[in-house]
Amino acid sequence: MAPEFSQTAPLEAPALGEPYLLTPGPLTTAYSVKQAMLRDWGSWDADFRAMTADLRRRLLALIGDDKGDYDCVPIQGSGSFCVEAMLGSFVPKDGKVLVLANGAYGLRAAQTMDYLGRAHTLIDKGDYLPPRGDEVAAALDADPAITHVIAIHCETSSGILNPLAEISDAVHSRGRKLLVDSMSAFGAVPLEVGRIPYEAMVSSANKCIEGVPGFGFVIAKKTALEAAKGNSHSLSLDVHAQWATMEKTGQWRFTPPTHVVAAFIEALKMHEAEGGVAARGARYTQNRDVMVAGMKELGFETLLSDQWLSPIIVTFFCPADPNFVFSKFYDLMKDKGFIIYPGKLTVVDSFRVGCIGRMDAHVMRRVVEAAGQSLAEMGVTSAAPPSAALDERSKLAA
Ligand SMILES: *Cc1c(COP(=O)(O)O)cnc(C)c1O
Repeated sequence: MAPEFSQTAPLEAPALGEPYLLTPGPLTTAYSVKQAMLRDWGSWDADFRAMTADLRRRLLALIGDDKGDYDCVPIQGSGSFCVEAMLGSFVPKDGKVLVLANGAYGLRAAQTMDYLGRAHTLIDKGDYLPPRGDEVAAALDADPAITHVIAIHCETSSGILNPLAEISDAVHSRGRKLLVDSMSAFGAVPLEVGRIPYEAMVSSANKCIEGVPGFGFVIAKKTALEAAKGNSHSLSLDVHAQWATMEKTGQWRFTPPTHVVAAFIEALKMHEAEGGVAARGARYTQNRDVMVAGMKELGFETLLSDQWLSPIIVTFFCPADPNFVFSKFYDLMKDKGFIIYPGKLTVVDSFRVGCIGRMDAHVMRRVVEAAGQSLAEMGVTSAAPPSAALDERSKLAA
């Protein structure tokens, strides 16, 4: 049985004939977001400086910072540039980071630390097991040299929503500092500083706020921004320098992605009009619930048990049926107007379906229909995964 969902009017189509991107960013954006890019802006001009200030203010409004302790610093580039900027700016040269990994993005943070040549240690949980508060606590107790912990909020490679609150409790009860990669969750999953008082966190324009790619942003304690002076290994990724310049002149240090900023402000206005983080999260949750229920009716199984499913992206096992070929399935889905995402697991074959972007439950029902038709066209009679895949999954419950 498909779950109930409120019968709101369908969202308008993003653009005629464009496929929906069921991917974790870049993702499907609203027509008005694309339209906001049809104008050129002078980066030094007062109009654009006002846009930068508006963008920073609107992002800060999402974190529940009643005391005004935090500030927002946009950084040019994709999300990984921001992760690197955060690690290089907030971890002092003599600091040490505990990296919590359960997928590609956690491992990328560790690799970034390698490039920075700064001390770090890794808890690697493999493809999909969550790092838990008690193991973080034990690691911190065992190594007093650790100054910072970096956690991935939603690990987009499996779609797991990591238990950030218990991780935060472990970190703060031991007097260490928390850095968060909330790239694929921020704007749809609550991250309130009253509950999770991070030192700094990063996200980017092309995820849950539903902008287009081109920059990311750091939200950090002002005390941490002050203390970051002189830490960075990189001129262009120095968060303190970008912040100091923005505070002083209202400008970005180097050429800003002006059109992307204009699109992002439109996306932030739509986010607010929809009802903010709670409403955005509710729409994505409904997208997920409708899509997962429909896919399960077709016989597909999710990698994760329901407890760990995020409203961001869901990993499905590929069916055991020998007629199932992922590349063919991908093409058949694309023909029907839906671009899905390959899997990123090491042990079993999988694919992913994103729930974020300018789409709703009406669209997700059509995704399920398209999946059913594509299976039939390939001659796949059952979408059930191989038993080895289910054996893998049962380890999760253990
Ligand atoms: C998207 C994403 C990033 C950044 O990836 P880019 O390709 O550099 O934009 C980092 N971490 C997570 C968890 C992500 O989902």
